[in-house]
Amino acid sequence: MNLEEMTAFLTERGYPRFRAGQLYQWIHCKLASDWDQMSNLPKSMRQQLAEETELTRVRMIDRQVSKIDGTQKYLFAMPDNSLVESVFMRYKFGNSVCISSQVGCRMGCRFCASTLDGLIRSLTPAEMLEQVYEITRVTGERISHLVVMGTGEPLDNYDNLVRFLELLTDPNGLNLSQRNVTVSTCGIVPRMRQLADLGLSITLALSLHAYTDEKRREIMPIANRYSIAELMEACRYYFSRTGRQITFEYSLIKDVNDAEEDAAGLAALAGPLKAHINLIPVNPVKERGYRHPDDRAVRAFKNKLEKHGINVSIRRVLGRDIDGACGQLRHRHLSGDGQKAD
Ligand code: SAH
Repeated sequence: MNLEEMTAFLTERGYPRFRAGQLYQWIHCKLASDWDQMSNLPKSMRQQLAEETELTRVRMIDRQVSKIDGTQKYLFAMPDNSLVESVFMRYKFGNSVCISSQVGCRMGCRFCASTLDGLIRSLTPAEMLEQVYEITRVTGERISHLVVMGTGEPLDNYDNLVRFLELLTDPNGLNLSQRNVTVSTCGIVPRMRQLADLGLSITLALSLHAYTDEKRREIMPIANRYSIAELMEACRYYFSRTGRQITFEYSLIKDVNDAEEDAAGLAALAGPLKAHINLIPVNPVKERGYRHPDDRAVRAFKNKLEKHGINVSIRRVLGRDIDGACGQLRHRHLSGDGQKAD
């Protein structure tokens, strides 16, 4: 519930309005983990809340801390015991959390571990928030940045995503700056346009990964639904409505999309949009057999893009020693290689 809904809920039950402010603060600022902590609320009110509502909690099943860079990977169980992953990363500019938006994924990208077991269900707004809140509780550190780049396709869970973003950036709650939020999509065109119409100041990242429809279809089934031309039109629209520059994600896969002509084709798409390109050397997923180009080849690809005047960064590789890439920790647990979920 947002504050308005919480106020309606409580006043309908005869409580004064200020109780909603207190309750909202307990849940979204002080990150209370159960009703009994809410010491300035009357006991009878806490009892009634416990009976009539649910305070969504996630349970930490596993946590891996990278010895290389301190990145922390979390495996959380949702109230129904579904498993999702989240990641905590420290950067110079602040702490960033990467959350999952669905349990599994149905987009079927060939290089991605999150989709290997299919889609189980979408996460609720509370389940997305709780990933951020629980990591804050565990680390005791403030989180300033959020990326929706974990398991799942956020725009395949559109309404819940928008509600989650509203709560996360609510000045009455944790008050994360919209400018520090990035939502990554494989490119569901109508939803990209819908998001643009909300006029939020969040960054939209498009997982492009190929510069022709033909090549994109080989690695991303969603490319059979929407063409690159439609995607570029949706990106232009997003920029025109929000003033926010688009990011292209490009996972570099050796001998698949790392040739000279790929760089030129990618530059031709990014140039007119002034899109920023984020290169991600593909994280090898055992089941898939894709490999990343070596560091020199990655840098060479970056240089080629830069010669075309494109703004490029190479995704810093964090947590490679801890199943860092999308879906790897969860997949390992589900396939029985890891410790049991209970
Ligand atoms: N469904 C959303 C967000 C989740 S994935 C999307 O498609 O954008 C976040 C990014 O990681 C996407 O760009 C995705 O294509 C990329 N990715 C997934 N598996 C990867 C892997 N094994 N190596 C490198 N990048 C990967």
